[in-house]
Amino acid sequence: MKNECYIVRDLLPSYIDQLCSEESSRFIEQHIATCEQCAELLNQMRVEFDIQEQSEIPARIEQKKPFQKIAHFFNAQKNFTKFLSIFFWVALIVTIGFFIYSLNVLSELNDEREKTQVIEQQKQDIMEKTFSVLSTPVTIDEIALQAIFQEYSGQLEQLAVFSTENIDEDDVIYLQEGPKNFFPIDYSQAELIIGENGKIIETIIPNDYDIGTVAMANDQWIVQYEYQESYLETIENAHQIKHYAPSNWTVFQLPIVFIIITAFILGGWLIQKRITKPVENILD
Ligand SMILES: [Zn+2]
Repeated sequence: MKNECYIVRDLLPSYIDQLCSEESSRFIEQHIATCEQCAELLNQMRVEFDIQEQSEIPARIEQKKPFQKIAHFFNAQKNFTKFLSIFFWVALIVTIGFFIYSLNVLSELNDEREKTQVIEQQKQDIMEKTFSVLSTPVTIDEIALQAIFQEYSGQLEQLAVFSTENIDEDDVIYLQEGPKNFFPIDYSQAELIIGENGKIIETIIPNDYDIGTVAMANDQWIVQYEYQESYLETIENAHQIKHYAPSNWTVFQLPIVFIIITAFILGGWLIQKRITKPVENILD
C-alpha cells in the first residue's frame, strides 16, 4: 500500500457523501483508476452506504408523517377558504339580483299607491263639493250638482242625493264617518239623480259590484254615486292596493335575508383567510 492509499482511504467517506472539493475528488478518481485495492474498498463502502440509506427510509417516512398530516390539514383549510370565497361571490350576486328585483317591485307598488291616493282624494273631493252645494237647504241646486257631475263625467255613472229621513239611522251614522263603499240605496227614494244628460227620472238598476258605489252622509243628506263600468277595474286595483298591498319591509325581506347570509359568509371567509395566510407560502 502506497502513501497515497492512506490519504485516499481517509477521504473516501467524504467522497461517498459528496463532500470533497473538486481537486480532492479528481485526485481520488485518478488514484482509483490505477489502484485496484482502493477501488475495491470504495465499492464495498458504497454497498454499505446504500444498505444504510435503505434502512433509513422507513424512519424518514415516520418522521415525515406528522408534517404530512399538518400539510393535509392546511390544504383542507385552504380548500375551505376557496369554497367560502366562491360561496361569498355567488351569495353577493344573488343578493344584488334580489335587491334590484325588489326595487322594481317597490317602484311599481309606489306608482299603484299614488294612483290609489288620487282615487281616495277624488272620493273626498266629490263628496266635499256636493255637500257644499247641499249646505243651503230647502231646494237642491240642480245646476250646481250638474256642474260637479260634469267635472267627473269620465268616471261617474250617476250622482244621487237622498234625505236622511227615509234611511235607516245606523246606516246614516256609518256614512257620516266619510265616503264609504256601500250597498246602493234604492234610487226610487232619491230626491235627485244626476247623470250625463242632467236629471234622471227613469228607474235605475243599481250596480251590484260591492265597491262600485260610494256614499256619505251628513245630518240632512246622503250623497251616493256610482262609478262607470269602464272605471271599475281601476277602482278594484286601488281597493286591492289600499287593503292588501305588501309593506316595504315585505318587499325587501328576501334581499335583507340574503344580505345577512352574505355578511356571515364574508365574515367566515375573512377569518379563514387569516388562519391560512401564515402557511399559504409554505404549502405553495
Ligand atoms: Zn491505493
